[in-house]
Amino acid sequence: MSHCPFCKKKIAMSKAFCSRNCKENYFQLIAIQIPKLFLKRIYVFCSKEEREKEIASFAARHKWRLDLLKNKIEDEAIKMGYEKDPAD
Ligand SMILES: [Zn+2]
Repeated sequence: MSHCPFCKKKIAMSKAFCSRNCKENYFQLIAIQIPKLFLKRIYVFCSKEEREKEIASFAARHKWRLDLLKNKIEDEAIKMGYEKDPAD
């Protein structure tokens, strides 16, 4: 057994992803780049509401899916120590 790299579902070894959708989401997620300064600005200088707005306009500007961008921003924020890891 292998795992879908996007949703982590179990899949057959012969497959790379569980679905076409996961494949597309996975590659879009890789394409999303979050500048460190943007991350710092939204976490250090913005309130939670302002951060949501900044993230939404950032997604619109680059035509990225908002949910994917949010996931990635959360991951990066945890890595950078702006946000606590919920698994801790
Ligand atoms: Zn999947």
